[in-house]
Amino acid sequence: MENKKELRTWLDDYNLDHPLVIGGPCSAETEEQVLKIAHQLKDSDATVLRAGIWKPRTRPGNFEGVGALGLKWLQKAKEETGMKIATEVASPHHVELALEHGVDILWIGARSTVSPFIVQDIAEACRGIDNPVLVKNPINPDLSLWLGAVERFYTCDVKNLGVIHRGFSTYEKTKYRNIPEWQIPIDLQNRFPDLPLILDPSHIAGNRELIFELSQTALDLNFDGLIVESHFDPDNAWSDAAQQVTPDALIQIMHDLKIRKVVGEDEAYKNELNKLRTKINIADNQLIEILAKRMKTSEEIGRVKSKQNVAILQSKRWNEILGRMILEGEENGLSEEFILRIYKAIHQESINHQETVAKMQNA
Ligand code: PEP
Ligand code: MN
Repeated sequence: MENKKELRTWLDDYNLDHPLVIGGPCSAETEEQVLKIAHQLKDSDATVLRAGIWKPRTRPGNFEGVGALGLKWLQKAKEETGMKIATEVASPHHVELALEHGVDILWIGARSTVSPFIVQDIAEACRGIDNPVLVKNPINPDLSLWLGAVERFYTCDVKNLGVIHRGFSTYEKTKYRNIPEWQIPIDLQNRFPDLPLILDPSHIAGNRELIFELSQTALDLNFDGLIVESHFDPDNAWSDAAQQVTPDALIQIMHDLKIRKVVGEDEAYKNELNKLRTKINIADNQLIEILAKRMKTSEEIGRVKSKQNVAILQSKRWNEILGRMILEGEENGLSEEFILRIYKAIHQESINHQETVAKMQNA
């Protein structure tokens, strides 16, 4: 990565790079696997090695981690490569074992963050430690729950805190495994600008193709780091195979990413502009997705109408929508003229889609 941003907060005190890059497998599988990946990443921008030892799985019967044994492998990787090591802890016992084995950075998984009882127990076990603790967002899109977990650590005197954005679970099928809902980390960043914010593109994407663009978006939004799952044989990984990249691919991604440096007025201006443009890009993508979704529903209506032999154009319904949207627009500071223009275009496109559906059904 070119143009490293200035160091700030505890990342600096802890002698960590900024942006911080954490790389390594979803799960520690064998000693050889952990060591091989660590050696492949050793001289890259990834200065911290991640590996899950205790794996929370949605359904039982999947690989649930090698347990405490894996800590020895991480420790060995640290000795051999000089990388810092990080793992997920989900109970006070995990914390105790991880600290005993020299784990530098602890992270709290998304399934733990949802439970204030569990978070409280883990936070108590961490009382007063200097090791950074990174709190992943809860699986549901709830900023208060996320911040609540951070607070629990803070009040247990854990001051080197950061957060990881790993996306949010949704029942709907999308191109992501967990939808990014960028507005939530952006709100968090605005309220707590000094809390390092790290992106986990792997768990958002669920596939390796989206890792780069998600990482670039995060850097454009001034995130402070990335945690990327990486395995020398991703397709045969014991967990999250589709989303892992090889260490070489990770090195290439880091090389291609552009980092916005926060220095000088001119730079600050460009940075701000870039951040806002990224927000616009995100909003535009959401607009297209939502329009496509609306058209799909419209097509379904077209199918229902065509079966009943009902006319496509229903003026009463159309006027009702228009009236409602003009009011809604007014409340949101959008002019009537604008709403009319936009809705006429949407309506026309819907009619076109319904006509195509009717033709296909009658063919
Ligand atoms: C992980 O990092 O491998 C993991 C299980 O993540 P999450 O808690 O975000 O699902
Ligand atoms: Mn994983």
